[in-house]
Amino acid sequence: MPRRCQRSVDRRSGFTLIELLIVLSLIGTLMALLLPAAMDAHRKGRMTKCMGNARQIVSLFNIAVQDLRMVYPSPAGNDNAFAQDATLKLFFKDINLLKCPSDSGAPSYPGGNPCFNAGLSLASYCYAKSDISGVGVMGVGGKRASAFRSPSQKALLVEPTLDPANGCSWHSKVPSSGMVGFLDSHALLAPTNCPGVIATAAMPPRDRLYY
Ligand SMILES: [Zn+2]
Repeated sequence: MPRRCQRSVDRRSGFTLIELLIVLSLIGTLMALLLPAAMDAHRKGRMTKCMGNARQIVSLFNIAVQDLRMVYPSPAGNDNAFAQDATLKLFFKDINLLKCPSDSGAPSYPGGNPCFNAGLSLASYCYAKSDISGVGVMGVGGKRASAFRSPSQKALLVEPTLDPANGCSWHSKVPSSGMVGFLDSHALLAPTNCPGVIATAAMPPRDRLYY
């Protein structure tokens, strides 16, 4: 009797090859199901962080503009670059706000766009000081805040990835999408080529969004 019990225990211990293969295939199936969802959640998390950055940057900008007699700054130097300009830099105590988490910080950027982040010496966002013709955004530098009658439709900052000419998209699988921050401090991720939303070739008429 004790011997029979011993044999039964031996037979049950450990996995057979088939059981092992079944477990491995189950793990593989689970990974295949869960991995895309996890990556998607990660991507959305970065997008949410970027949107928060854009909102905070515009809010800080609007506070600073109150000290500038309600005129948007138009500092000399690199057009539309946030972090390169000392005046604009003063607005941001936390320079990390200027970095989009999806911006990989590659040192060379097509077209040499100065807004690209490279070790935080530059920024991931462009201030619409001057016209950003590639994405149909009119510059605000030197203009009074009261000049813009629809703050919810006037872009103050954009990510350079919006411009297909830059040939780079760090936010999504959709080519050329990027964050846009508006004067009323809301932000959205806008794809280029979205009809009626953002122009890519020529400057859109004045009643278009982003003007
Ligand atoms: Zn971003």
